[in-house]
Amino acid sequence: MKIGILSQNENLYSTRRLRQACEERGHEAVIINALRCYMNINSVQPSIHFEGSDLTGFDAIIPRIGSDITFYGCSVLRQFEMMDVFSVNQSIAISRSRDKLRSLQLLSRKGVGMPITGFASKPDDVPDLIKMVGGAPLVIKLLEGTQGIGVVLAETQKAAESVIEAFMGLKANIMVQEFIEEAGGADIRCFVIGDKVIAAMKRQAADGEFRSNLHRGGSATLIRISPEERKTAVAAAKAMGLSVAGVDLLRSKRGPLVMEVNSSPGLEGIESATGKDIAGLIVEYIEKHAAKKGRRRLPFQ
Ligand code: ADP
Ligand code: MG
Repeated sequence: MKIGILSQNENLYSTRRLRQACEERGHEAVIINALRCYMNINSVQPSIHFEGSDLTGFDAIIPRIGSDITFYGCSVLRQFEMMDVFSVNQSIAISRSRDKLRSLQLLSRKGVGMPITGFASKPDDVPDLIKMVGGAPLVIKLLEGTQGIGVVLAETQKAAESVIEAFMGLKANIMVQEFIEEAGGADIRCFVIGDKVIAAMKRQAADGEFRSNLHRGGSATLIRISPEERKTAVAAAKAMGLSVAGVDLLRSKRGPLVMEVNSSPGLEGIESATGKDIAGLIVEYIEKHAAKKGRRRLPFQ
């Protein structure tokens, strides 16, 4: 098969591993930088040009669209979908997952457990917003943050009010969330492919830190997850419409709670923590599904 990997950087671990997995399995892999593609949108023969020529003959796309280029990256992916090329994750599911508010609303509609969460832009009654989500301690998040940046723990009511007011001053949309203290600074990354969790790791925050992001000094280890955690992770990916997803769970007194669902989960941490060939499993998923489902028109939203 001819498989396109939509990625901005061919030297990233995940991109290199996906290319290698395609080639090991006898496929041709082409790395495509979405930002450099330009497209012809028409109803007879939509096309995509890259490096001066037509991108044709692709059987499947593995989208690895960075969160900084979601809009254009998803437009290029949608163009491939218009050309009936199979994509591991559809553009609509990726755009859904990039919007934290929309994601949590979709998860809540499907009854998936999550921390009690409030959303606000310019709340006219900050104490009431805090009361609505159960009071301090609270986690306050900038909607656009990644890698733990813009995630703050406010331990008291006063601290929560000041942080919310500071973020309001920056005209940022914020999320105010119940602090799951019993998670002990750890979260669980479940790697979902299709309807299975194929690998899971626990990320533990560094001493004195509650954010377990590896970029914030957290460390990853292999972990066995419970059937309930498995079920929750798969339900979360399904609610988002993602076939490949990294679902982050917090272990709470009331069971697993979904914190976020990532549509381009990194491979490095999870492959080294679990020793599994996850890139190979993604390509195997394509082998099973691309031929079967490739030829179809997708609904656009
Ligand atoms: P980002 O998108 O920047 O990674 P997250 O929402 O994943 O932001 O938060 C970063 C980290 O902070 C999480 O991995 C988790 O360890 C911790 N964290 C986030 N929300 C909560 C919460 N409600 N309760 C306890 N810990 C949390
Ligand atoms: Mg995170």
